Amino acid sequence: MNEPLFLNERDKMEEECGVFGIYTAGKKEVGELTYYALYALQHRGQESAGITVSNDGELSTYKGMGLAADVFTKESLNNLIGNAAIGHVRYSTSGESRIENAQPLENRFKLGQVAVAHNGNLTNSKIIKELLEDGGASFHTTIDSEVIIKLIARKAANGFEEAIRSSVSAIKGAFALVVLADNKLIGVRDPYGIRPLVIGKSKFGDYYLASESCAIDAIGGEVIRDVGAGEMVIIDENGIKSVVYSELNTMNPCSFEYIYFARPDSTIDGINVYLSRVESGRRLARQMKIDADIVIGVPDSGIPAAIGYAEASGIPYGIGLIKNKYIGRTFIAPSQELREQAVAVKLNPLKVNLEGKKVVIIDDSLVRGTTSKKLVEIIRGAGAKEVHFRLASPPVRFSCYYGIDTARRDELMASQLSIEEIRKEINADTLDYLSLENMLESIGKNAYCTGCFCGEYPMCTPNEF
Ligand code: SF4
Repeated sequence: MNEPLFLNERDKMEEECGVFGIYTAGKKEVGELTYYALYALQHRGQESAGITVSNDGELSTYKGMGLAADVFTKESLNNLIGNAAIGHVRYSTSGESRIENAQPLENRFKLGQVAVAHNGNLTNSKIIKELLEDGGASFHTTIDSEVIIKLIARKAANGFEEAIRSSVSAIKGAFALVVLADNKLIGVRDPYGIRPLVIGKSKFGDYYLASESCAIDAIGGEVIRDVGAGEMVIIDENGIKSVVYSELNTMNPCSFEYIYFARPDSTIDGINVYLSRVESGRRLARQMKIDADIVIGVPDSGIPAAIGYAEASGIPYGIGLIKNKYIGRTFIAPSQELREQAVAVKLNPLKVNLEGKKVVIIDDSLVRGTTSKKLVEIIRGAGAKEVHFRLASPPVRFSCYYGIDTARRDELMASQLSIEEIRKEINADTLDYLSLENMLESIGKNAYCTGCFCGEYPMCTPNEF
């Protein structure tokens, strides 16, 4: 595990990437529009940002390390004019944090140019990479996404559409891809729909693809629908064409998108993230009744669940923790001691709301447990009489293989300790997790990936190859 993996805001599972694509009939500031969309997707990755523009099929890429706002200037965006573009924000779990690994990846070869931006994680990339290397391919990055672009290049003689279709049929794992090739914008979602990808349209007739609907909202578009599991959409001057490239198309989207990763103002596969979080809080309140004076949420993702909890329990909702919005991610250091220190600096207790009170505190999830322990400590330090800790998700006991930065299994507190042992470890008066059943009910009726909770995954994990 390389050092940037410790750049977590708190000890959380971390989303790997966000992708965006735009296709427009005429020439436009597609770079600038992509920039604003990436800005809205920034929570999905802060290590690097990049945009590739297609100007009548001629591709040019601009990317760098850091936040979208740090990477792009007005001048660089002014040069990103064209009729289509794709963009990417990255948080690495596959490959190191360096500029070569920033996306989109672009490749020029005999039959043309192709650019790819990928959210997810491939589970068979090692094998494919070895086969491609045996066939003479050379790799310039350490990320699994390069396998995709090399596969497309190898098959391009059959036409780009067919090359992409057969390449995505060969890869396994979680992927939401946006691709620029042959002056078309192409979007692909893996056969289980693990990572999200939504289609939008503007009133001017421009088409969008995005990891989350909040990016489409940010640039004034309307959501049309989500890309389906095992579906490839090809967008060009003729509109949208849909190709179902996999017969194994069973929707099993990531349930953690609703719990923590996605922005609350996004709607994924028809389910609004905010409403699902409020419902998880309501259900949490009904699971274990408690006598308390105030319900508080850990900013930001614990707050909708706290609102739902307060509504269902009748205990008033209040603000108990103030988040300092101006501390950058670089503040976090790899050592556990410094991570614990960082929590106290980022979240300050609102003493007037906590002193002498019996407090219910809601967080979205507990991973290593260091943050929860520190939170209980600072709430008690602010004078709380009792602290009742609630998690709006089931215990995280297993690693994720589909594009999420999870701690090692032996670092996941719930894989090592019982719930009562965790309660003692974090020094809470009571502790309760949302049951798996209630979590699924609060999201909706679809089937979801729950691998990190149950250890049962919708498809092969890398260990199975
Ligand atoms: S294992 Fe967990 S984090 Fe990973 S895709 Fe499945 S639900 Fe999401």
